[in-house]
Amino acid sequence: MAMWKKAALVGLVWMVALAGAACGGDDDTGALAAGGDRLRIATTVAPITSIVANIVGDRADVEGIVPEGTNSHTFEPKPSVAELLSDADVVYINGLVLEEPTRELAEENLKDGAEIVELGTLTLPEDEYIYDFSFPKSEGKPNPHLWTDPTLARRYAEIVKDDMSKRDADNADYYAANYDKFSDLIDELDAAMRESFATIPNRELLTYHDAYAYFAKTYDWKVIGAIQVSDFEDPTPAEVADLIDQVKAEGVPAIFGSEVFPSPVLEQIGREAGVKYVDELRDDDLPGEPGDVEHSWLGLMRFDYITMTEALGGEASALKGVELRNVAPDTAKYPQ
Ligand SMILES: [Zn+2]
Repeated sequence: MAMWKKAALVGLVWMVALAGAACGGDDDTGALAAGGDRLRIATTVAPITSIVANIVGDRADVEGIVPEGTNSHTFEPKPSVAELLSDADVVYINGLVLEEPTRELAEENLKDGAEIVELGTLTLPEDEYIYDFSFPKSEGKPNPHLWTDPTLARRYAEIVKDDMSKRDADNADYYAANYDKFSDLIDELDAAMRESFATIPNRELLTYHDAYAYFAKTYDWKVIGAIQVSDFEDPTPAEVADLIDQVKAEGVPAIFGSEVFPSPVLEQIGREAGVKYVDELRDDDLPGEPGDVEHSWLGLMRFDYITMTEALGGEASALKGVELRNVAPDTAKYPQ
């Protein structure tokens, strides 16, 4: 759809929504409009917390649930998280079946009028879900890592902007302005990624944790494989032997582990295939510490894609030229 048509359609939907709100008597945003209270937002993994923080800035309270450095795919929230969930006005989660225990706890505890918004599920139609070795279709859990693809992360930000503008209409202009700046930041990152990736002789990826499937599709990379099996155990010796053969045959100079999932198996594959093993990719653990400028969704993207580019023999100066920043003050809480 042409951009202007889309914009016109969104405008129309808004006019209808506003007309509805004007006619309606008891809308559930009344408490905010009347009292001027800040909305309380709960989020799950740190990259989503950072994207939400870039849109809402200091106009709402944002608190993450999944501690950084833990396995978000098997994470079970402590019962004490129920307190935050019972007070939240909105819970932004990834969805695509990533955070079921947290989603269930939220459903049991949400107050009246509060909602769970699944950013990933709203971003991608079901026929574009990717299933693979680590996320087989038979288990009904699609690969959930949409946020490592900046073009999809932009959509997360847009959904947050639209949703928050409804919940907190007084600040709608602020959220829209932040979204525009965040979208510009994504344009800049996207261009730098393409420029850096163009210098890589072979854009082929073997990772341990399978967090780059959508990214690979958008940026024309070939995913040779991911090692981690769906129950987060190690692959069988036969599968490892196949991967060693495959890495040798493809001639890639490096394979990638994840700092959250130390992998002796991937180390072994690297050693036996005679390629470099880089064990520091991150998919939901932001670099640095809360308060650092690299501790952000942009910092995460820039770190991963510089790491991949350089390990595969490319030149990452375009990516290094992207200035680390948030487009609004990040006042979110990131559990560690
Ligand atoms: Zn992951």
